[in-house]
Amino acid sequence: QARRLEGIDKNIWVEFVKLAATYSTVNLGQGFPDFPPPDFLKKAFVRALSGENHMLHQYTRAFGHPPLVKILAQFFGKLLGRDLDPMTNVMVTVGAYQALFCCFQAFVDEGDEVIIIEPFFDCYEPMVKMAGGMPVFVPLRPVSGSEQNGKLMSSADWQLDPAELASKFSERTKAIVLNSPNNPLGKVFSRGELELIADLCVKHDVLCISDEVYEWLVYDGKEHIRIASLQGMWDRTVTIGSAGKSFSATGWKVGWTVGPNRLLQHLRTVHQNSAYHCATVAQEAVAQGFQRELELYGKPESYFIQLPKELQQKRDWLVQSLDAVGMKPIIPEGTYFLVADISEFKSDVSDVPDSDEPYDSRFAKWMVKNKGLAAIPLSAFYCGAHKNNYNHFIRFCFAKEEATLKAASDILQKWK
Ligand code: PMP
Ligand code: GLN
Repeated sequence: QARRLEGIDKNIWVEFVKLAATYSTVNLGQGFPDFPPPDFLKKAFVRALSGENHMLHQYTRAFGHPPLVKILAQFFGKLLGRDLDPMTNVMVTVGAYQALFCCFQAFVDEGDEVIIIEPFFDCYEPMVKMAGGMPVFVPLRPVSGSEQNGKLMSSADWQLDPAELASKFSERTKAIVLNSPNNPLGKVFSRGELELIADLCVKHDVLCISDEVYEWLVYDGKEHIRIASLQGMWDRTVTIGSAGKSFSATGWKVGWTVGPNRLLQHLRTVHQNSAYHCATVAQEAVAQGFQRELELYGKPESYFIQLPKELQQKRDWLVQSLDAVGMKPIIPEGTYFLVADISEFKSDVSDVPDSDEPYDSRFAKWMVKNKGLAAIPLSAFYCGAHKNNYNHFIRFCFAKEEATLKAASDILQKWK
């Protein structure tokens, strides 16, 4: 075994996908929709697969199928208010996962520090370590008093301490990973919060790896702000997106990066020597999906408008059912995840052998085995040293059919 693999052999998704498959009747664990992708996207895939153009079964351009990079350049060019060159400012990857992997491999040297905001999407830490880097963690903390008067907490109540964040930047800092909307909390970073991060990046000449896979999933009229659009940030930011999240097709594994050529040229070096490219037919179908979305941009028929509208109702429904039984939810401003407080929700977790495993993790395992309901412990989104800092929360995915959410609510109501 290579040294770079030491200590990163465990994976929360591998573990909980197996637990859910074995025990769950209702799976609100791993993040994926149990409803189908939109018809226009499925039809585009079928056309790509069985149409006249049999070249779609063969290799395509390494850094992205030309129709896809062209439409992504147009689409994100419009959002960022700048002309993007499809060949140099966009690169298609095997999901957002591979985009992240390319970033760490391309920019992080032995001993470089990478700042990660906790709680974080779990793969950032092992990926930084595999590149020889040192993850440096800075927490979002719930601001005190936000739960008063019986009001539910919002993901907006989880905030960075500006002085603490600033203290993490040093000459060894190579990059910061930003994930807004944030998985698992659902926090959508405000302009002020993004400006704070941007100013520190500029001051310390640090790169920003901006994971925006939930860019369309924002609620209550909130605005998703792209950090690459802030003063001084375009040149130092790689923005990452995912067709899996944008079009409810996580199994397609189509992702992308958008950024300046000075950074993307190095991502291309990693990519051409690893994955090379992702499935041509899937890229062709996603290109057609974006073509449609560009034509309907901002209109009510746009999937990027419709999906969050539907998800907001699902969120509200799950918030209500959790609150009704005393599993206090933190209302997410974005993503399709919701974190709930299990501390008032006592149960007998004694059949799981006592260990130094955080309580939320033991609870989640107990819950799937005894109640048939799968969710993810929040400690999975903290580094080893911090796993017990917030160990009485679990994360639910609400990108689910009504019947699935209803079944989850039934389990909760019958709990006691
Ligand atoms: N980043 C975040 C924050 C995620 O939640 C996920 C999981 N969907 C990914 C990246 C990976 O995305 P993909 O499925 O496109 O590889
Ligand atoms: N991003 C998804 C989640 O947070 C799952 C990722 C995975 O299964 N590897 O649930």
